[in-house]
Amino acid sequence: MKISTPELRRRYKFYWAEVVRVDAMRRQLEMEYATKAAEYIINYGVRPPRPQLPPFPVFPADLQGLICGGKSRRTGKPCQSREIFPNGRCKWHGGLCTGPKTAKGKAKSAQNLPALKIIGG
Ligand SMILES: [Zn+2]
Repeated sequence: MKISTPELRRRYKFYWAEVVRVDAMRRQLEMEYATKAAEYIINYGVRPPRPQLPPFPVFPADLQGLICGGKSRRTGKPCQSREIFPNGRCKWHGGLCTGPKTAKGKAKSAQNLPALKIIGG
């Protein structure tokens, strides 16, 4: 059992960001293969060789058994939850959502606002 420190949480977050990145790369390669394979089969009647997919990163051994460690407001002790998100905290200690970050996200959230009502128009 290991309480997550800011440094461990940073590495934990980095690991999951890496997994997401590799997964996106693998999906991209699979999609490209699927479209190419369809064409290839029509032209040559055989399936082209599968692409070499990049491997997923190995989970760091020292991050095994990481616990949330957020301060309990009832007991004052560190939280013992093992079900932690990529930010290194559990569902109760992850902090509030701070809203959209990218310009695309901000534009999308702005679309969900109610339309302006023009008074007396
Ligand atoms: Zn917690």
